[in-house]
Amino acid sequence: MFLTIRAKKVALCLLVCVIAVTLGVTVSMVARAAYIEPSNGLTVVLDAGHGGIDGGVVGVNTSTPEAEINLAITKSLKHFLSEKGYNVVLTRKNSDGLYGLFSKSKKLDDMKKRKEIIEEAKPDLMVSIHQNFFPRANQRGAQVFYAPGSEIGEEIANSMQKVLNANLEASKRSPQEGDYYILRCSEYPSILIECGFLSNAEDEKLLLQATYQEKVAYTIFCGIELLLADKNNEVN
Ligand SMILES: [Zn+2]
Repeated sequence: MFLTIRAKKVALCLLVCVIAVTLGVTVSMVARAAYIEPSNGLTVVLDAGHGGIDGGVVGVNTSTPEAEINLAITKSLKHFLSEKGYNVVLTRKNSDGLYGLFSKSKKLDDMKKRKEIIEEAKPDLMVSIHQNFFPRANQRGAQVFYAPGSEIGEEIANSMQKVLNANLEASKRSPQEGDYYILRCSEYPSILIECGFLSNAEDEKLLLQATYQEKVAYTIFCGIELLLADKNNEVN
């Protein structure tokens, strides 16, 4: 079974995650990439949402497009995972969208390419990174989405949401079904994380800071470690 984590283990892991996030972010800022672990045989696809002609939602005060923030968090998360021996595959590697110069249906081609990359990678987990926006400006915090009706998606989203809520100050949210193409387009375990609300001035301010982007990335990294711990043990 993909997840066999009992409640006690989850509680203990959450505590470890909180400490790890605090220490991990501090240490990584002092001395980066000191040691790279050998491959653990696990593949994670990271999908930085939007890009190219599609910037996604924009910050309420600065108009910064979420595409930029998504990419920064994705790159930081890739760094943490790669150091731990994960095989990391990115869908979008830079600010460009995933379509050809002469594409007539850029958004469609972009989404098809993401699906292609996921299917080729055959990942143990796919994580799509986005930022949220809501008309009511008081909404804050990170939230995890999974494909409607996906049991494994729901299980993964629940586990990841607990780690986010335990480590990111304003996050007290619950996971939710989300009818997004990226979650439905493959058979592989998938979640989409909205890291915060660009419609909220405090969240926007935080999400624009490199240190906070790194904290979000490290928190998601800890969530992935927790999710794939059993698989990791099987491999080693
Ligand atoms: Zn988005």
